[in-house]
Amino acid sequence: MEYRRLPHGNEMIGVIGLGSASIGTARIDTAAKTVEAAFKGGINYFDLASSGPNAFYACGEVLKDVREKIHYQIHFGADYSEGKYGWTTDPDTIRKSVEWQLDTLSTDYIDFGFIHCIDEEKDLHTMEENGIIPLIVKLKKEGIIHHIGLSTHTPSIAERILDMDIIDMLMFSINPCYDYTKGEFGIGTNSERMNLYRRCEKEGVGISVMKAFAGGQLLDAKLSPFGKALTKNQLIQYALDRPGVITVLPGAASPEEVNEVLSFFDSEETEKDYSEIGQFKADDAKGRCVYCNHCQPCPARLDIALINKYYDLAKAGDELAKEHYISLGRHASECLGCGHCSARCPFEVNQYQRMMEIAEYFGI
Ligand code: SF4
Ligand code: SF4
Repeated sequence: MEYRRLPHGNEMIGVIGLGSASIGTARIDTAAKTVEAAFKGGINYFDLASSGPNAFYACGEVLKDVREKIHYQIHFGADYSEGKYGWTTDPDTIRKSVEWQLDTLSTDYIDFGFIHCIDEEKDLHTMEENGIIPLIVKLKKEGIIHHIGLSTHTPSIAERILDMDIIDMLMFSINPCYDYTKGEFGIGTNSERMNLYRRCEKEGVGISVMKAFAGGQLLDAKLSPFGKALTKNQLIQYALDRPGVITVLPGAASPEEVNEVLSFFDSEETEKDYSEIGQFKADDAKGRCVYCNHCQPCPARLDIALINKYYDLAKAGDELAKEHYISLGRHASECLGCGHCSARCPFEVNQYQRMMEIAEYFGI
């Protein structure tokens, strides 16, 4: 496992966590074995927007003795009182549900208290007016919630919450078909989505990624809006390369599926290379670096992806990005202008020209 630090805190979070959609309605013994395999594999971040209550029974049983080593995302707005997942903005139901979740998990604190699944402005108003957002803020002041989060699929809603300056983590759906607005489910243009990721990085708000495989759609050529399947390794790497991302939360229905996802760390770089999505790109993504590093090797040994990422972040107003750029071993000014990268870039980035632009911008 590799870990990334939460910017608004000191928590070190595994870059792969566990989503609970698959174990929520699995048999409890299977769910428990899955959670156990995840913890043994180094996973320390568990999302609990689950499809059903069994994820809570399993986590409560398996993780109660290692509680301080793990982090839970608990959702204010997910309800399990009917024995399956339900979404609600009713304040009494939310309060009772959170009490039940904490009891079942054998815990009395919440690492990440999430405003759950808000995709429309009217629902955001409701959660403010019904007292749930003020309640979450109060629980944070009291130390019961350590960090506030929001889960949404809608960039404009995420921007609204970022304006309120209360969240430390955003749970957002990220995969190539949503980012390139292919298929039915992605919300927001490529630019809106990239601007959101950059804003999160700039403001120190981590992103936990849901739907990295687009609900399995992208793993199946018949279902994929690109007409071609991608692998879990490619999609995990894609999500981890977006600015702001701390962790990706794939679902797993069994210990075997957990181990399959964790085999990402033993995979070759070529197996994680997702640059073939360059063939599927949306028009507004043409000529934009997606930080995939497919253009390597660079004879000047420049980390082309990282140089481009810091440049984009600096232009978006991230004050730390310049320091990060300067601390790199090699800089855009060392570009030899060989053009190898531009020739290999599936996204039609004129990288040599960009390196000159970057060198001028940072003065190095
Ligand atoms: S220049 Fe192209 S190939 Fe290189 S990192 Fe950017 S998008 Fe990927
Ligand atoms: S043009 Fe510059 S950045 Fe691109 S491969 Fe050549 S030396 Fe590296």
